[in-house]
Amino acid sequence: MPSKPAAKRRTVGSLLERLGLVSPIDFVLHFPLRYEDETKIEPIDSVRAGHASQLEGEVVWAEVTYRPRRYLLARLRDDSGEIQLRWLHFYPSQVQQMQPGKRWRVRGEVRAGYNGLEMVHPKISSVSGPLPSALTPVYPSTEGLPQKAIRQRIEQALQSVDLSDTLPESVRDALGLMSFEQAVKVLHEPKPGEDLSQLEDRSHPAWVRVKFDELLAQQLSLAQARAQRRLLVASALPSPPAGDSLATRLMRQLPFELTGAQKRVVDEIHADLAKPHPMHRLLQGDVGSGKTVVAALAAMRAIDHGKQAAVMAPTEILAEQHFLKLQPWAASLGLSCVWLAAGLSASAKRAAVAAIESGQAHLVVGTQALIQSSVSFYDLGLAIVDEQHRFGVSQRLALGDKSRHGLPHQLTMSATPIPRSLAMTFFADLDVSVIDERPPGRLPVKTKLVSASRRQEVIAGLRTSIQQGGQVYWVCPLVQESEALQLQTATETHEMLSAALPEVSVGLVHGRLSGPEKTAVMQKFKEGQISVLVATTVIEVGVDVANASQMVIEHAERFGLAQLHQLRGRVGRGVRESICLLLYEGPLSADAKYRLRAMYETDDGFEIARRDLQLRGPGEFLGARQSGLSLLRFADFEADAHWVEQAKLLAAQLRSKDSAIALNHVERWMQGRDAYLNG
Ligand code: ADP
Ligand code: MG
Repeated sequence: MPSKPAAKRRTVGSLLERLGLVSPIDFVLHFPLRYEDETKIEPIDSVRAGHASQLEGEVVWAEVTYRPRRYLLARLRDDSGEIQLRWLHFYPSQVQQMQPGKRWRVRGEVRAGYNGLEMVHPKISSVSGPLPSALTPVYPSTEGLPQKAIRQRIEQALQSVDLSDTLPESVRDALGLMSFEQAVKVLHEPKPGEDLSQLEDRSHPAWVRVKFDELLAQQLSLAQARAQRRLLVASALPSPPAGDSLATRLMRQLPFELTGAQKRVVDEIHADLAKPHPMHRLLQGDVGSGKTVVAALAAMRAIDHGKQAAVMAPTEILAEQHFLKLQPWAASLGLSCVWLAAGLSASAKRAAVAAIESGQAHLVVGTQALIQSSVSFYDLGLAIVDEQHRFGVSQRLALGDKSRHGLPHQLTMSATPIPRSLAMTFFADLDVSVIDERPPGRLPVKTKLVSASRRQEVIAGLRTSIQQGGQVYWVCPLVQESEALQLQTATETHEMLSAALPEVSVGLVHGRLSGPEKTAVMQKFKEGQISVLVATTVIEVGVDVANASQMVIEHAERFGLAQLHQLRGRVGRGVRESICLLLYEGPLSADAKYRLRAMYETDDGFEIARRDLQLRGPGEFLGARQSGLSLLRFADFEADAHWVEQAKLLAAQLRSKDSAIALNHVERWMQGRDAYLNG
């Protein structure tokens, strides 16, 4: 059978479906983008440029001109005056319509033309039709789908759908909300007296009701997801009854005291682990806040119960940083810590896999290699995933499948602080612990913005600090178009610096090096054999060399704000005063200026995140968790933060006292769209 031509398949139904409009309630909840006021006819002499108007009058003149190009021009007159109409594209039938003597109703935006005010491509209709009594909504649509088709279906849906309120009157009164039915009707069919500007900027009480309903539905389903998680079973890992726990022994050995914040989050995690349900906790802490030791203390609790713990990181460098820190800690307690990554030789890999399977490996650290099907754990009690936003949902879940006895507890760690408003809206089903304090004695990193034309001065300055024993990261720009080009700039920079600083050892690390090669370079840098490390963004996350106190970032204007902050976090880890030089090349875009200024003004990760959010929207923070459908359609979690809070309170209240109401409300709003919660 020959396939149908594509054009034929695009029926109105399929176009509506593309907009997500299938069942009647979808249409009810498809709200206008803006409105047109077609309820009145204005006198021609009252119109103003830049405003949309509807006029009625008689054509008094019309002509097709050919210079400077082909136009249809006409003049329309009413009792008050005249206006020009102009078409750049037109059919012979339109020329007919504009015959002098005919009367038309015309609608469009007025603008200032050569011959006074004019309308270009106005909408034309007959003067005999009745004027609509409501503002005309303009709906989000897609190519080939006329507004009329959407409007019709919505009118039908408004007749057939039960619009009764999901919220009792007492709740609406307490919150000052209008009824659902009224809100929906105002939005779809606003009366001429409604405040058009409030409707358009979405501050109208009808919008408030809709946004609140959406937020409430979201909070309810997040709470639901959390409750479902409590039905899952995991091994309870309470504090060991007698004697010293591994965690206590590890703490005693550390060369430092935990900060108050670290102690608090360790307690939160240990309390979760003691429960017979899988922990699902996000540990947030700015770069350098000391997440690794918290992870280690969590792992010790699992190992104390004869179980294994695993730490998975998205890159080999990052995973290795963890291993280098965790392995000596484990060894000092007589525990075995095993390394697993793609770069291992076949025999080393076999040995690692065998140790994981037999349970001989207490702690396992590695990359995605951990979730390969060839790896099976003896008894995984705790899965720790670092920089979780870099993994896909399925990868994170795969580690959770590796347990034999129930589900493992899960701790995810992130150095990208999520602004509170965002966390409340999208991560409400996760428990969140925040390390909001840095280890003591850290000096703030001094950040300077330097024009790239002063590169020679910068290099001269480095020489002095290197002579005093300092070490430097020199980060090369991201070249979006090409990894090869990025590699080339890094190589050239390496050559340039080697020539400019002949007495200094300059190293190079980039994404094309093999795992062991990268490690060898990093190790030399760590041991001080290399003084200047030229790097691409492979060092972005997690690298920890305390003696490195200077960072130069080339073409800082090309980096994202979060990325700059992560990079800067590589310095300021020791006792030496640290400096971060952001080399930029003008002219700078407004966004680039905003980013560089933010870096100069603050080194508070949450403040950086807040500004980044303003610049880029929430997508970046949500990472793989985001599935498109999860984003709010009407409410804005920042601007409507007050309502997020109210929705959260009401959600908790309804779930405990009025679960039928909660169910009803979620049903109206979610329509099976809550699948994203399971990430
Ligand atoms: P991040 O949160 O960026 O992963 P790390 O866990 O790598 O931070 O810790 C950064 C550095 O601070 C490490 O060298 C670590 O040993 C050290 N550190 C962690 N906690 C403390 C503390 N309470 N006091 C002093 N140093 C600490
Ligand atoms: Mg880290």
